[in-house]
Amino acid sequence: MSGFATRAVHGPAEPDPGSALPHSIPIQQTTSFTFPTVRDGIAAFQGSGDYLYTRKANPTVRALERHVSALEAVPVASPEGPRAPAGDVDSLFFASGMAAISATALGIAASSRIVAQGGIYGTTEAMVTDLGRFGIEVDLVPVGDLAALASAVGRGQSPALVYVESPANPLLQVTDIAAAADIAHGAGALLAVDATFATPALQRPLAWAADLVLHSTTKFMAGHGVALGGVVSGASTLLADRIEPMRNRFGGCADPFAAWLTLLGLKTLEVRISRHVENAEAIAAFLRGHAAVTRVHRPDLDRLPPGQMTSGGPMLSFEVDGGESRALELIDRLRLITLAPTLGNVESLIQHPWSMSHVVLSERRRREMGIAPGLLRVSVGLEAADDLIADLEQALAP
Ligand code: PLP
Repeated sequence: MSGFATRAVHGPAEPDPGSALPHSIPIQQTTSFTFPTVRDGIAAFQGSGDYLYTRKANPTVRALERHVSALEAVPVASPEGPRAPAGDVDSLFFASGMAAISATALGIAASSRIVAQGGIYGTTEAMVTDLGRFGIEVDLVPVGDLAALASAVGRGQSPALVYVESPANPLLQVTDIAAAADIAHGAGALLAVDATFATPALQRPLAWAADLVLHSTTKFMAGHGVALGGVVSGASTLLADRIEPMRNRFGGCADPFAAWLTLLGLKTLEVRISRHVENAEAIAAFLRGHAAVTRVHRPDLDRLPPGQMTSGGPMLSFEVDGGESRALELIDRLRLITLAPTLGNVESLIQHPWSMSHVVLSERRRREMGIAPGLLRVSVGLEAADDLIADLEQALAP
């Protein structure tokens, strides 16, 4: 099998059977498909597999799904030798990361129980908590705490789903995925991992025995801040039986143009991520040595089995001396790093989790999670590292 960089540029080794072979995937911007005869139309409604209606499937969306599957299936190097997903890998693309996560939670855990990490992306935590209103029992455990995860999973009704975000947003805590999978599987549950902050370029959870991996493709996978999207990957029967019906019935399907923009982004994922990481490491080193910075948060790779994450990734957060007012002033002083409530773009972005990405959670909950009013989250872009450091330096000056 070819390496990750080759798969990122070329997608799956085998073309989609039955599709034409254009050099670049065309955008099939259509809501529905027609049929040569009424018999073909009836056969499509009855499961022939022909494209029918774009809420259900579309060739451009399918090309993206096959591309992501090819990436998630690339074996991972570990000291014990290469690791690969246990079964086949398929993917489903959605209108946003939240559409992918909610359809996964509903499809796997309806009328059952979810044990999820709390202290993750605020809207995910709010959504999972909301599922309590829809007949799903929900328990939150602190992110990165495997003992708490095992204890919650072992208590009461066996969960159907264990939900992990690694690295977590915004404090970058990491979870040993193989250990979390053991805990989930020991109770008969499936393990889903949101790996948005790592992308498949740095971490492929299916190779570490997760059953499902999720990404907000809005972020590094699309990479240019122009297309919302979300993807879930796992065994084809699991996706087809449990998650695709949720996408079709609840309607979180993606637009073909978003799939096409995301495909363009994926082709440069490997090269972009290596530059994002190089810059993130340089900025983290600068911030660690700055007197006005009290803490720098990056993934602690020593907590993970060797090979799970191949670097600390493109994200970091840091706390400034002087709390909220100093953090907000710093954002206003920046000239190059841009204030925007997203991440994963080619441009460096900053935001204030206390008042922005995590404001959906109560103040008490934000404090419990460790989100300080002086915390800033940076999505490190592809600019020259020296320019980014100079921008931070002038903004941090007294
Ligand atoms: N997962 C993580 C880790 C995120 O940071 C986000 C958004 O910031 C999401 C999921 C949700 O993705 P989207 O905004 O595409 O719905």
